[in-house]
Amino acid sequence: MSVLAQTATTSAGCPQPGPRVVQERGQREVFCGLTSIVWLHRKIQDAFFLVVGSRTCAHLIQSAAGVMIFAEPRFATAIIDERDLAGLADCNDELDRVVTRLLERRPDIRLLFLVGSCPSEVIKLDLARAAQRLSVRFTPAVRVLNYSGSGIETTFTEGEDACLAALVPTLPASDEASLLVVGALAEIVEEQMRRLFAAIGIAPVAFLPPRRAGQMPAVGPNTRLLLAQPFLAETARALEARGAQRIAAAFPFGVEGTTLWLQAAADACGADRRRLHDAIALPQERARRALAPHRAMLAGQRVFFFPDSQLELPLARFLARELGARLLEIGTPYLHRQHMAAELALLPDDVPIVEGQDVERQLDRCRAAAPDLTICGLGLANPLEAEGLATKWSIELLFSPTHGYEQAGDLAALFTRPLRRRALLRGA
Ligand code: SF4
Repeated sequence: MSVLAQTATTSAGCPQPGPRVVQERGQREVFCGLTSIVWLHRKIQDAFFLVVGSRTCAHLIQSAAGVMIFAEPRFATAIIDERDLAGLADCNDELDRVVTRLLERRPDIRLLFLVGSCPSEVIKLDLARAAQRLSVRFTPAVRVLNYSGSGIETTFTEGEDACLAALVPTLPASDEASLLVVGALAEIVEEQMRRLFAAIGIAPVAFLPPRRAGQMPAVGPNTRLLLAQPFLAETARALEARGAQRIAAAFPFGVEGTTLWLQAAADACGADRRRLHDAIALPQERARRALAPHRAMLAGQRVFFFPDSQLELPLARFLARELGARLLEIGTPYLHRQHMAAELALLPDDVPIVEGQDVERQLDRCRAAAPDLTICGLGLANPLEAEGLATKWSIELLFSPTHGYEQAGDLAALFTRPLRRRALLRGA
């Protein structure tokens, strides 16, 4: 019996067809949801993210954002200090003062998110009520919403899920038949997708989040909802509660994933399959050509995924099926069986999928397996590199444009770069 089989049980408690899914409970090694502000703030261009947290929260975002110098940054932290924690100051008054000052200084802000953190939750600061109060005060110029980015029992991509879920109740209602693509995509990717949907004959198409607060998409019973990211369980649930119908699909990573994603959308919207094939033939060919050199490097390489971004399953599928990598273990923080059904069906049966984490045990398995490439969070990457393993920071997969045909080569390059670096170091 392998170490894994001794330490974990099947999630349903009985044998199941398809990949072996096991659950692990123990210490976890993940970033909190505040991290997602780093890519979200670039997406909604007139939004501002005000974290209500501690100096630790401020440092986390600053270091996750790297050394970026902004003339007009779109995120900040309202620091809860010792007086607030000791209950000596009225946090609501302080918060109102900070928000008023911010909005006076920045008349360009149309949407303000109050982002909760561990400290704001510890002192039970009611940010939902604060958002309502401030929204009334600043409407119609600014809408104020809130969500939690707290790190207790969450992973960093849940920040995007919580943010988008907070937007759903504000979306206008509509009975019009439409396609709604959900998940923050890089602008260049959104443009490519818009062109592809138009060529396929799918219209109208809207994106959540939109680029501006005034362009919120409408939702209703004739909205077809297409997830672009695999970590949006709450957002999907909220949209479904408003009548939207989710299109079951694989995720648009690599040639295969993008094709299946577009195909599912085309079928759900009644578009012509031949038109779809004509629209995607050239981009598919370009993407396959871009993948070829990376496949030559990745074929046969043994890859180990730690649970971190919730992108693990689609990326493992891409690495195995399009680049010939051998999967050793796929860790994922959570496994949404419905949203992941198409991905699970494409993964090899003999690769263990581990939901949750017991980091010490997983490290033992990783060291014993000695993979050629390990995909993990920042906190594990440096120690593993020091032990001689090549690693890829999973957070980079969120910061870079990776969806769709035109990005397939860049996505593959994120995995071949560490292998190349290690080969150079060994040759030096
Ligand atoms: S884990 Fe909690 S305290 Fe730490 S940065 Fe995230 S929200 Fe702040």
